[in-house]
Amino acid sequence: MLDYHIHSNFSFDSKAKPREICEAACFLNIDEIAITDHFSFAPYSPNYLHFEPEAYFQIWTEMQREYVDQLTVRIGIELDEFANYPEASNQMARQFPWDFVIGSTHDLEGGTLRTYLRKFGDQEKTIHSYYDALFRAIEVGHFDVLAHFDLIKRYTADEGYPLLDELLFHDQIDAILKLIIQKGIALEVNTSGLFQACQAPFPSLELIKRYYQLGGRFITIGSDAHQPKDLTRGFSTVIPQLKTIGFTGLTIFQKRKKTIQTW
Ligand SMILES: [Zn+2]
Ligand SMILES: [Zn+2]
Repeated sequence: MLDYHIHSNFSFDSKAKPREICEAACFLNIDEIAITDHFSFAPYSPNYLHFEPEAYFQIWTEMQREYVDQLTVRIGIELDEFANYPEASNQMARQFPWDFVIGSTHDLEGGTLRTYLRKFGDQEKTIHSYYDALFRAIEVGHFDVLAHFDLIKRYTADEGYPLLDELLFHDQIDAILKLIIQKGIALEVNTSGLFQACQAPFPSLELIKRYYQLGGRFITIGSDAHQPKDLTRGFSTVIPQLKTIGFTGLTIFQKRKKTIQTW
C-alpha cells in the first residue's frame, strides 16, 4: 500500500506532525508515503512564507532515516501556481532534490475556486475557466503528476449545483488528458472527494477510463490527508476499480524518476 498525497504541518491547513504521520503509516501497514506540502508564491495565499524547504528537508530526511526499516518516505511538494508563477514554480521544482512534484490548481483570477463560483454564480462558466487554467498550468509546468483533476466539482457540489454531465466539457478534458500523456505527467487518483459533498474521487471514474482509453498508463493514488487518521482513506473502494479499468499498478517516484509498481 502506498499514499502519494499527504500534508503535514508545513501546510497552513494541517497540524499533523511528521512523526505522527509516520506512526500512522506504520500502524496502517503502508509501505511507502510521499509527503506533499503546499508551497505558495502569492502573497495573498495563506501558505505564503509558511513552508521553509530547508527545514522541511531536514525533518523529513530525519524521518526517512528513523523509519527506514518500516516505511519508505518520499519527499515531495504540491505546487498550485504554475499558471500564475511559471518561472518561480519551475525553479522551485528544480532547485531542491524532490522525489515528487505535484501540480494542481486551487485558484482562479486571484481568488479561490469557491469565490470565483460565488462571484459569477455560473457553474458552466466556472468549470470552463477552471479547465482553461488547468491546461495553462500543464503547458508551462514541469511537474510529475496532475492532482485532483476535477477538483471544481467539490465546490459546485458544496454550493448546491447538480453534478453536470462531464461530456459538456469533453473537448477541454480530452485536451488536458492528451497533454499530460504527451508530457509524461502522471494522473493522480485523489480519494478525498469520496468524503466531500460530490462523493466521488478526483477525477471521476469516467475520466480515469478516458485517460486509459487515450493511452495513459501512469497513475498515482493519494488520500490528500491533512490528518494522519485519513491516510489511505477510500483506497479499498477505488483500487479494485482501477484494476478493472486495466492499470497494471501504481506509479512511484524517486528523485523524480517514475516506475510502475505492479499490483
Ligand atoms: Zn490540492
Ligand atoms: Zn493537497
